[in-house]
Amino acid sequence: MADDEERSSCLFCNIVAGSIPATIVRESDRVLAFRDITPRAPTHILIIPKEHIASAAELEDRHGDLLADIHQAAVQLAGAEGIADSGWRLISNVGPDSGQEVFHLHYHLLGGRPLGPLVTPTG
Ligand code: 5GP
Ligand code: ZN
Repeated sequence: MADDEERSSCLFCNIVAGSIPATIVRESDRVLAFRDITPRAPTHILIIPKEHIASAAELEDRHGDLLADIHQAAVQLAGAEGIADSGWRLISNVGPDSGQEVFHLHYHLLGGRPLGPLVTPTG
């Protein structure tokens, strides 16, 4: 479990607590979804657990129901955003090579335009 200091300095824990504003699009007892502040696609929503978990690398066996909730939220939000048929992508960055910037587990729900290759080709 994360300690109080880790939580109080965590951007997304502060969004969960309501002390930093966000455009919330879905909330349940375990999961929060809000719009990314710098959207990279017409739909760019961050889906997070309310519990502080640093990344997918920190998930434990007890998080199975939480992961199911997150995936259900993604499907329902894709429907609400009108991108169920056009398609969407769900991404979670872990560690330096991924470019992870916020160390509270989050899934980017992206869609609303063709999203291109999964990763940027290297030269
Ligand atoms: P990462 O690079 O860690 O996978 O993604 C972090 C995401 O959080 C980025 O897409 C970034 O735009 C978003 N972000 C950073 N600060 C804020 C904020 O204060 N509010 C919201 N809604 N999104 C943020
Ligand atoms: Zn956190």
